[in-house]
Amino acid sequence: KIPTDINLLADEYLRLSFHGIRAKDKSFSADFSTDFDQSIPLVNVAFSDIGRVFLNIFNNAFYACNDKRKVSESYIPKVQVSTKNLGSIIEIIISDNGNGIPDQIKDKIFQPFFTTKPTGLGKGLGLSLSYDIIKVHGGEIAVKSEPNHGTQFIITLPLD
Ligand code: ADP
Ligand code: MG
Repeated sequence: KIPTDINLLADEYLRLSFHGIRAKDKSFSADFSTDFDQSIPLVNVAFSDIGRVFLNIFNNAFYACNDKRKVSESYIPKVQVSTKNLGSIIEIIISDNGNGIPDQIKDKIFQPFFTTKPTGLGKGLGLSLSYDIIKVHGGEIAVKSEPNHGTQFIITLPLD
């Protein structure tokens, strides 16, 4: 574990994820934004693992937006990451206005190999891996989603 600037890490992976999707689909565009709490101290984390969590969740968010884009013409994809220093923990919220998660599958998305994506596009391991990484760090990961409106992933990490 290394003292890590979580805001910087989130920002880097947000850009990496967006440009990764753009590289495969030149027509993709999205409004992405950050709202970082600058009072967050360095957090002791395995930064490459937490980076993978960010990449998984941002990739899912942009994918959900890209899916919705196919059915709605005037739609502008939006992905946002915000951070908050809550004293003994930090809270990271990643929101998208993509296609959302149907209620029937909400309790399955953290299971290994659960995916709704076509073969080749998803193995269903991103969120189960993310869940394990956050748990190992003593944190929590939760999801809120409204079908057709969007999804929020809420991650907390302890400050020591
Ligand atoms: P994969 O991306 O390979 O499908 P994940 O574990 O990352 O595997 O995600 C599992 C499933 O959770 C996805 O297939 C999708 O159905 C759902 N999901 C995850 N994030 C989102 C999101 N932001 N919006 C809508 N659905 C999502
Ligand atoms: Mg994924």
